[in-house]
Parts: sequence; C-alpha cells; structure tokens
Amino acid sequence: MTTPRVEVDLGKIRHNTRCLVQRLEARAISVIGITKAVCGHPDIAKAMLDGGAKGLGDSRIENVERIRNAGISCPVTMIRTPMLSQVKRISESCSTSYNTEIDVIALLGVMAHRNGMVHGIVVMVEMGDFRDGVMPCDIDDFVAQILNLPGVALKGIAANFACLTGTEPDCQSMAAFSALADNIESACGPYIETVSGGNSANLSWATGPDKRGRINELRIGEAILLGVDPVSGVQISGLHTDAFALVAEVIETKDKPVQPEWSPVVVERKTLRVVPSNSWSTRSILAIGNQDTDISGLGFPVGIALKGASSDHAVVETSGRQLRVGSEMTLRPNYKALMRIMNAPDVAKVVFNHLPVPETVSAKENRSGLAVVCTDGVRS
Ligand SMILES: *Cc1c(COP(=O)(O)O)cnc(C)c1O
Repeated sequence: MTTPRVEVDLGKIRHNTRCLVQRLEARAISVIGITKAVCGHPDIAKAMLDGGAKGLGDSRIENVERIRNAGISCPVTMIRTPMLSQVKRISESCSTSYNTEIDVIALLGVMAHRNGMVHGIVVMVEMGDFRDGVMPCDIDDFVAQILNLPGVALKGIAANFACLTGTEPDCQSMAAFSALADNIESACGPYIETVSGGNSANLSWATGPDKRGRINELRIGEAILLGVDPVSGVQISGLHTDAFALVAEVIETKDKPVQPEWSPVVVERKTLRVVPSNSWSTRSILAIGNQDTDISGLGFPVGIALKGASSDHAVVETSGRQLRVGSEMTLRPNYKALMRIMNAPDVAKVVFNHLPVPETVSAKENRSGLAVVCTDGVRS
C-alpha cells in the first residue's frame, strides 16, 4: 500500500459520535458533527451522521461542496462568518450560516431570495474567546436589523470557547449565554430555536452537574475524531482515540554519533571545540515531514523518540532497534497534525469499516429468483 497514508477507521468515528450523541441527548443537547479537520471528507462526514449527528458544520465552502458533491443532503451549517466574495456559494450549499456582519447577512438574503429560498442565520456572540462574535451589548440591535431583511430567518445564537485565547467555558459564562436567548426574545420577539453552546471544549461542562439552561446544541469535531477532551488532552471515557493512524516509511537506518550539546563558549581563553564522542545511537529516518503534517503533533510508538524534522524527513532514535528500510511505522496525530495530514496531497487517505450498503429496491428487482433476507432473518 502507498506510504505515507492515513488510515481512517469509520467504525470508530461512528462509535465516538454515537457515544457523545447519547450522553448529550440525555441532557437535551444535540450534536452537529464538525468536518473541517478532515476537509469535509464525505465518508467521515457520513460516519458522523450514521452515529447520530443531527447535521454537519464546516468553516470552508470547499469542504461543504465536497460533502454536497458526494450526495449528502443533510443540513450543513457554515460555522465561520462567510466571506462576502463567497456568499453565493454559501447560500447554494449551506442551509444556515454563522454570522457577525450585517452586510454579509443582507447579501445572503438577496441570494436566497433570488432562488426562492430562505437562508438560516445563527448569530455568533462574543463570550470571551475574542475571536468572532457580536458583543452581547449590541445583540438586540443586531437581531432587530436581521428581522428587517428579506430572504433570511434568524435560527439562533452561538458561542465559541477555547479557540483563540483558550478561555474555557464555565457555569457563569454558560448561564449568561443561555440568558441571552431569553433577553433577545423579550427585546425583539423571535423565538430563538438553536442555542449552540460551543465545541468539544464544552463537553465536560455539558456532561457535568451545571444547569444546561437553554443550550440545546454543541458542535463537535475533535472529540468525535480523536476521542479526547481538547482542554485537558485526556481520553474521554468510552471513546476511541485511534480512529486515525498515519503510516510512514523508513528510508534510512544507521548508527550515528549522538550530537554533543555545545555552544562556542570561551573558557579561560580556550575555545571549546566539538570532539569525537564515543556515544552512538541508532537512528532512522521516516519519509514524512513538516510539509505533510505537524511532526511535533505526532505520537510515536513506545521506545521511539523524535529527534527532529525538516520539510521531508523525520528523524527518530530507536533505542538500539534496527528498523528495516522499507518497513512502516504507525503514528498517532493530534488535532493540528490531523488537519495538516488531511490537507496534504502526498498523504493517501484510506478509509475502512464502511457500513454495508443497504439493498436497494432496484437491486432486489434485478435479482429474480433470489429472496432478500434481512440480517434479523425476516424475509422481505
Ligand atoms: C472548529 C469549530 C468547532 C469544533 O471545534 P472542536 O474543538 O473540533 O470540537 C465548533 N465551532 C466553531 C465555530 C469552530 O470553528
């Protein structure tokens, strides 16, 4: 098989989604599967939906179009405020988008109106992460302006945490955000259907003892894909952390002197020099580099230590083991490393563990003389 490649276990992604959906369902919170880290890979998007995600979200229109071109017709939300230059494409492929600029919303409305449609608007609210968002003090005015525009419908509000400044959600900020929904309703009238509380960083809050208030949706990427809590980096109980494996190939194995740690310091007028060292180590080079991923974001097998990487080489020390040239090593990417891998043209994407394709009616008809038997043994 080609290397480097990323192997994706769709079954583990379905399982992770299902676990989180069930835990949050018990708290009246639904899950939007976020596909930006996997570039909207249609098979992975479908695994999220098969696991019970209510819809999908992505921050780039190219990814959404990839999902649409694969025939996936579920609601897809644009979770980054649209570029003015992309409004047409967004109104064609996304049912809803997150917004913070009234000019963009107006144009989304014009485009949707032209096509006889209504585009859903979720207003992103600034809750302390200081990335995108309308300030809470401006929200009533902002909503009132939206209500005057044709072609758009206010669907809800959203908050985002722990992305830019690492501000984590706590019970106060979540209660304040929940109360905003009530305030907007009493100030402007419209029912706020979606109150989207945040991302994977909100999971421990959402499954903890605090009141959930009006928060009825989370947008989850990292926790589904990697099974970890992004704040602590700890595995979420019951979730798989190995749905993705990056496989790289060994292209050199040699014993090399251990580099002495030195700097040209002058001691009593004698310059220190590098001298041959009798300390040697076994090193291998993997044919993968910073062009393909964030090498520092990779987990290596036990006994293998990363020594450094350049654009096309990753150098590892192997504690005396002689790795055969041509052999493969499996590495575990973190979220940043995964994003780069899925974007890298030279890393092959290999997905397995597809769900069996359900038998279609036409397939049944074409097989005269054969009975179609369901898995529970009932003849159809
Ligand atoms: C990326 C992103 C998410 C998903 O974040 P994860 O940490 O992957 O769960 C949710 N909402 C917005 C607005 C995002 O940009």
